[in-house]
Amino acid sequence: MNIDGELKVFEGLPAAVAGVGKDVVNEAMIRHWCEAMGDAHPAYPGVAPPTMLQAWTMGGLSGHTARSEAQDELFALLDGAGFTSVVATDCEQEYLRDLRPGDSITFDAVIESVSERKTTKLGTGHFVTTRMDVRADGELAGTHRFRILKYAPAEKKEKGEKKPAGQRPRPVVNRDNAGFWEGVSEHRLLIQRCGGCGTLRFPWLPGCNACGSQEWDTVEASGAGTVYSYVVMHHPPFPAFDPPYAVGLIELSEGVRMVSNVVGVDADKVRIGMPVRLEFLRVDPELELPVFRGSDG
Ligand code: ZN
Repeated sequence: MNIDGELKVFEGLPAAVAGVGKDVVNEAMIRHWCEAMGDAHPAYPGVAPPTMLQAWTMGGLSGHTARSEAQDELFALLDGAGFTSVVATDCEQEYLRDLRPGDSITFDAVIESVSERKTTKLGTGHFVTTRMDVRADGELAGTHRFRILKYAPAEKKEKGEKKPAGQRPRPVVNRDNAGFWEGVSEHRLLIQRCGGCGTLRFPWLPGCNACGSQEWDTVEASGAGTVYSYVVMHHPPFPAFDPPYAVGLIELSEGVRMVSNVVGVDADKVRIGMPVRLEFLRVDPELELPVFRGSDG
């Protein structure tokens, strides 16, 4: 459905009306912000960091009543035309005066522009730009221009419908780690053990980080481990991988950690602390990899 003609009428209509900041500018919020950002500049918290501009207008979990009907109608129109997904693309801010503790914040926002239909990697949709004017004690203190893309997601392939195209990247095998890959070919996960101090290490290295010794032998991992941390990969897509998939930092029962795939459970079921067990995955005729099977039971 082509709604391009209906979208332009929203330009210039309000996106938020008579918004009131839930707190006056205050030192506690400034201090928390600076700690989160790692900004130790001595001017703070006597004045607010300019980039905090939007923070003073945020409605928190309970939201604001300032949201306008026009904004809701625009989003309903876009949703109805199939542009149901949303992603924030960029933001620009302009600062006109300092914000200092005690300043009362009010704001209004306007739908500045709705783009023609555009096709991006994510899908086809419309960019919506809103501009918020932030006032301190009634005086314009800054503007916050925020752009989103409302889009129809590009066709997703069904589970199992398509095999990943392309070859999984090859490991770099060199003289420092050749023994590890020999172990993998025999279905043994080998951990290096320092000949000087006995410290276990993984990944393989030519020397010991604890004592500097270059003497070492190996111990075979039992195969038991737990998920120490993990990420679930959705984007960007790589030809050899079929997202979503979980990449775990696995803590082996011997105490060392290694990065590998968590298999056997849906990626969204992977949890920190989940017990996992080593197995060897035949990726293609030339490549076999140690991976870890999780259990959501
Ligand atoms: Zn050592």
